[in-house]
Amino acid sequence: MTVQFTIDGLEVKAKEGEHLLDVARRHGIDIPSLCHHEAVEPIGACRVCLVEVRSGQKTTITTSCNFLVEDGIEVHTDTAEVRKHRAMNLELLLARAPKSDVVRKLASASGVTRTRFEPLAYEPLPNCILCELCVRTCDMLGHHALTTVGRGDKKRIGLPFNKPSDNCVGCASCLSVCPTQCISVKDTPTQRAIWGQKHDFILCKVCGAPVITKKHRDFAISEKGLPEDYYDTCEKCKQSAASKRFASVVW
Ligand code: SF4
Ligand code: SF4
Repeated sequence: MTVQFTIDGLEVKAKEGEHLLDVARRHGIDIPSLCHHEAVEPIGACRVCLVEVRSGQKTTITTSCNFLVEDGIEVHTDTAEVRKHRAMNLELLLARAPKSDVVRKLASASGVTRTRFEPLAYEPLPNCILCELCVRTCDMLGHHALTTVGRGDKKRIGLPFNKPSDNCVGCASCLSVCPTQCISVKDTPTQRAIWGQKHDFILCKVCGAPVITKKHRDFAISEKGLPEDYYDTCEKCKQSAASKRFASVVW
């Protein structure tokens, strides 16, 4: 079913069940956010994507990433109330991630250059904003190698039972989605160190470049039913071989 509503006065249409942030972005309306990734379920963790939603007599300030659109609502992305609440949330994020460029930039765009909150940064993830994108992504990929521990100010991202998890395949997807890039990964030509473990790489049989970790290869082959030699060659060498084959067919 299609629903129709307005965002900052613009008439928009969306499918029932869509999230407001996705619909706004599709229509070129920029709502800032740190914890949103289209591939994983939104949870409204960073609370930067606040908007004002008016429905009949009711007005609410809500996170747009996990708000399901409704017919007839009036959405405003830049009211005084939205700016006030967003600025407060950015102050909190600054206390968690004082050295993160992405947080500082977003905060500064909202007029926030300092925080009144006690420092909340923690080792070994000093710029972690607790958005849980790493945990959600790892879970979505079927690994379940990360978790949250503690509550309130003591909440942290960590490893189950506080020790390196056998489930971690060293794919580094957690780092690729992390908005503040605070997860430590060290790659050498043959190994990747991440979350307290070292993972050997499969090396491309043509050029010798790292293709994927062995553990990730085994997981992907068994999950997707791929041929055993699927990851023996890197993408670049596969493409180069394919274009050579194409050229020989054309000529
Ligand atoms: S590197 Fe480990 S923790 Fe990170 S997403 Fe991959 S499996 Fe999960
Ligand atoms: S480590 Fe990165 S992705 Fe994970 S919760 Fe912290 S900021 Fe978010």
